[in-house]
Amino acid sequence: MKKANQINWLTTSVLIILPIFIIITAIMYGEMYGIGKFEILLFVGAYYACNISVGLGFHRLWSHASYKINKVLEFILMLVSAATLQGPAIAWVSDHRFHHAFADTDKDPHTPVRYKNKLKGFFWAHIGWMLVGELTIKHIDKGTAATLGKNKILVFQLKYYWQIATFMNVVVPALIGYFCGNHDLRSVCAGLVFMGLGRAFQQQMTFCVNSVCHFMGSKKYANDTSGDIWWLFFLLLGENWHNFHHAFGSDYRNGHKWYHLDIHKWLIALLAKVGLASNLVRTPKERIIAVMEEMNAIKEDKWSEKLVIVERFADSMAALAAEKLKMIEKSASDIANSMKNNVNNMANSVANNLNVGLQKKLIKLEESASRLTAMVRELKLETSAIKKRVVSDAYAKVLKLERAAIALGLITESQLISSK
Ligand SMILES: [Zn+2]
Ligand SMILES: [Zn+2]
Repeated sequence: MKKANQINWLTTSVLIILPIFIIITAIMYGEMYGIGKFEILLFVGAYYACNISVGLGFHRLWSHASYKINKVLEFILMLVSAATLQGPAIAWVSDHRFHHAFADTDKDPHTPVRYKNKLKGFFWAHIGWMLVGELTIKHIDKGTAATLGKNKILVFQLKYYWQIATFMNVVVPALIGYFCGNHDLRSVCAGLVFMGLGRAFQQQMTFCVNSVCHFMGSKKYANDTSGDIWWLFFLLLGENWHNFHHAFGSDYRNGHKWYHLDIHKWLIALLAKVGLASNLVRTPKERIIAVMEEMNAIKEDKWSEKLVIVERFADSMAALAAEKLKMIEKSASDIANSMKNNVNNMANSVANNLNVGLQKKLIKLEESASRLTAMVRELKLETSAIKKRVVSDAYAKVLKLERAAIALGLITESQLISSK
């Protein structure tokens, strides 16, 4: 038994190596003969034939039983669907039913949400899921085995799958090339190469339904990863309305409105009109509208949920901002206080210094003033002593002069007394 992550060389050869070989041979062919209308028609014809067999056969008829078809046409569909090299119809259906029943869960064989990394998820959904592990044919689900096991055409295809696939990919393209071309070997080569190229390209487009249509597109009907992508119509002919299809899998239409481009639904309707198809399953309009309204409600709920989350986030941010503002205010007032204290301290210390200096100077001034006072006092004393001495000297000299005058008889004592 192959491990789940072990490379499956059969699918890798068919889906990767063979297409690379065909691309190389197409380039060689182009260089040798050039590529004209004939080659392009072979490519486009094979592409759309494969696409229709996938859409009408694998998908809408056998996977979803969305209509019944004439047995001859079913046999032709079985042959062409084997040409796509996408495995026996029973295996394709088994995988596809799991995809619908368990979309976007672990049981979905190609869920795009298997990996958190979107690129890995895309690769897995597109082709990765087929390149590893066992072939699906070894573990067909019971429901598919029970229903399609009764379909003789599909049981025949399963039994002779490789013979039919080889016949459809070698004999048929060679014959088409030969008869539609110039009945020569080059035309045979053109058939083999360019129809092979068309088939290989169509494989990738089928895989795009699982990858691209699960990564983008509008979601009006089903609440999962599937999307409706209108512009893929030109390549998928209707399989591109994948979101509607996820909601109403058994509807034979993938695009339910008349303007939803869906070649496959028009082909089925045309077959029904000419009596080759019947039992077309149509989802009632009312049910589609109800589901669309439900989806709108889910979308609105999602929006209101998102709004509540945003509001909560805004509230918590506002609370955080208010807290931070408070912290900033507190730290600002702390800084202001500490600055104020510092300034006060500085002013005080300056004032103290000035005070001390002034006091010192005052003391010095007082000391000098008292010294000056003392000096003045001493001067005063000295002055009065000098004055006294001068006066007494003057008296003494006057007395002397008086006595001399008396002695000389210039004046009498009585005259002197009376003059005094
Ligand atoms: Zn899908
Ligand atoms: Zn489907």
